[in-house]
Amino acid sequence: MPHVRCEVGPHRSPNALSYVYERLSTPPQSFFRRQRLCDRHLAEWHQAVQIEFELVEDGQDLQELPRCYRCGIAQIDQVPVRELFLTIFRKDTQEDHWARLCNACCSAMVIHDSMKEDDSRARYSQ
Ligand SMILES: [Zn+2]
Ligand SMILES: [Zn+2]
Repeated sequence: MPHVRCEVGPHRSPNALSYVYERLSTPPQSFFRRQRLCDRHLAEWHQAVQIEFELVEDGQDLQELPRCYRCGIAQIDQVPVRELFLTIFRKDTQEDHWARLCNACCSAMVIHDSMKEDDSRARYSQ
């Protein structure tokens, strides 16, 4: 059995790793974090963040859900809108989630989770 490189540390896992990709859109910037997690640590992470994301479905109007998913504050008038896109790649499946964040929770998340600034715009503009 191969030694897997789970984000939490090298250890043995009977299953393939899952990939968690978070992207935080805070125009004009965006931040991201990628994690590779084994089944057990994915479950623990899931529980720790208390995610109540909406599952994104095709054609869904993302403007319909105006509350911050972390603190519950209504922030309909907040411009620009801050959004968190979460994708979990697990075995052969891909699960997309989406949530809206208020400004304060957004800033807290970038710091707490050490999210990196996405520099893809810089690359593309060259
Ligand atoms: Zn693990
Ligand atoms: Zn909030």
